[in-house]
Amino acid sequence: MRLAKRVSTLTPSSTLAITAKAKELKEQGHDVIGLGAGEPDFNTPQYIIDAAVRSMEEGHTKYTPSAGLPKLKEAIIGKFKNDQKISYKPAEILVGSGAKHVLYTLFQALLDEGDEVIIPTPYWVSYPEQVKLAAGNPVYIEGLESNEFKVTAEQLEQAITEKTKAFILNSPSNPTGSMYSADELRELGDVCIKHDVLIVSDEIYEKLVYGGATHTSIAELSEELKEQTIVVNGVSKSHSMTGWRIGYAAGNAEIIKAMTNLASHSTSNPTTNAQYGTIAAYTEDDGSVETMRQAFEERLNGVFDKLVAIPGVSCVKPKGAFYLFPNVSEAVKLNGFSDVDSWVEAILEEEKVALVPGSGFGAPDNVRLSYATSFDLLEEALTRIERFVRNHT
Ligand code: PLP
Repeated sequence: MRLAKRVSTLTPSSTLAITAKAKELKEQGHDVIGLGAGEPDFNTPQYIIDAAVRSMEEGHTKYTPSAGLPKLKEAIIGKFKNDQKISYKPAEILVGSGAKHVLYTLFQALLDEGDEVIIPTPYWVSYPEQVKLAAGNPVYIEGLESNEFKVTAEQLEQAITEKTKAFILNSPSNPTGSMYSADELRELGDVCIKHDVLIVSDEIYEKLVYGGATHTSIAELSEELKEQTIVVNGVSKSHSMTGWRIGYAAGNAEIIKAMTNLASHSTSNPTTNAQYGTIAAYTEDDGSVETMRQAFEERLNGVFDKLVAIPGVSCVKPKGAFYLFPNVSEAVKLNGFSDVDSWVEAILEEEKVALVPGSGFGAPDNVRLSYATSFDLLEEALTRIERFVRNHT
């Protein structure tokens, strides 16, 4: 069977090979510590589970409107009012099957062949692939480590061409944990307004911020920036609801309408009981979002010094999300490896710790470690990595 061209241009997930290898070693009985997880290790808070169960018992087991239940849209509008002090109308909200699918739908609605989307590196692995699937071209600008992996307005300005359709912002960032300040966002936003480039602001890690950092949405900075931005968010990371698959987009009603039409022919609607659970997530609060945030912060602070004490490892301290993204190029050299990918493979083989190489995120000198795992396992993983580096030096 000859497959479609669009899938032949897809880059397979770089995390896949290492995850498959880790799984294989685990099945052979090895004590593998996986630091690849992109999801909180807590169960979904009980009040959310109860609301979803109740909804099914009450008979809410049928299709809903494609862009989501009016009550859920209301709850999301309430969240934006509380957290960002911005007002959206129901026609400016689309609820979809996870932020990932919402982004997919957005690029399908937005891009024609050859349209360019500017993506800062290091990037979340799905952005380039989703842009390519919509026949667009990803254009990369480098978030320098010396600038906490953030891009500047000058870099953005230089990358813009007449084909540029959108610019992707992800603050707090996966994989770096970096966050843009309000001033930095304003400067980037000015460039986007000047060239009429749509800002796609992925704010999925909004609630996971540390060290007193505060999250700013670029859409809250002015009415003009709100008009220029599609905010993408969801409950996967904030409420530990990765398996529920609920995310949403907020912004220009014309774009939201096009996305809704697309959704009506693809998902029909996001899962009904998951929508009811999300209404509870946004309208009730038992304190668990903050409890989970604190647990992540304690882990980050508890392991950071141990990580940067490993010879040849340096790390920009993350301000948000739940990943560490150290530069390991010196350690790789010290250990006589030609690249980070083979070093990561050898650590898995020898010390049974699964890291994700940075190459898949457009940052070949780095690795990603998720701290969405218990403190004891994190400590043990770092002890093993340190032993590996010392044994090979
Ligand atoms: N955006 C970023 C930056 C992510 O890291 C993820 C999940 O890993 C998503 C979006 C997708 O989240 P969801 O579970 O809502 O699809």
